[in-house]
Amino acid sequence: MARQLVIGNWKMHGSVGQIRTVLPELVRAELGANVGVCVPFPYLALAKSLLADTPVQLGAQDVCEFHIGAYTGEVSPAMLADVGCEMVIIGHSERRRYFNETSEMAARKVNAALDGGLLPVYCVGETLEQRQKGVAREIISEELQVLAGVPTSLYTVAYEPAWAVGTGIVATPDQIAEMHDFIKQTLDARTRVLYGGSVKADNAATVLATDGVDGVLVGGAALSATEFLNICRHAR
Ligand code: PEP
Repeated sequence: MARQLVIGNWKMHGSVGQIRTVLPELVRAELGANVGVCVPFPYLALAKSLLADTPVQLGAQDVCEFHIGAYTGEVSPAMLADVGCEMVIIGHSERRRYFNETSEMAARKVNAALDGGLLPVYCVGETLEQRQKGVAREIISEELQVLAGVPTSLYTVAYEPAWAVGTGIVATPDQIAEMHDFIKQTLDARTRVLYGGSVKADNAATVLATDGVDGVLVGGAALSATEFLNICRHAR
């Protein structure tokens, strides 16, 4: 079985100083290729230089669906690959919620990322209201349409219930196991499915021991080297 992945999403946090403090600590811990960090665009090149000669993967948090041209403010897949990115988060709930990103847009971004040789880490998940209405599976099933026809080895899915992201509320092992099983049944049993939503050092062991969990996508706790390393230590 492949090692469980641990991917850190720095969101819109950090500074040159913080990157220069946290990343060398990760390097000193001699982490493997099952660990990735997704830092804000301006810090990617610096992060790559600090991670050089380590297997730790570098990722971005979004990508443009277009390859080149007059798209002011956008960053192409080729640019990400050029500065050393291996992966990119697509369809994060914060992008859907605050920037009105749709699954149609995410589908175009997934294709662009694949064309650029990047691993899409595609996020799906229901809101609390959708869960309470009993439509969580329908929502996730619709979001998963984005991946139709894409070979499963070329992407990773992150199940991130929106009500657990950044809230301090973690889905229960039963909730996680049920949804990971549903995602694998919908796509392919071999699909790598990460859980994301308030994973911290003190709950990582439980989450990573849950059936069907192939790793975790970590937001807030990725900003502290100590917290993040403690999470990485639980990856099997
Ligand atoms: C995330 O940003 O993908 C995430 C899961 O955030 P947090 O761990 O802070 O809930």
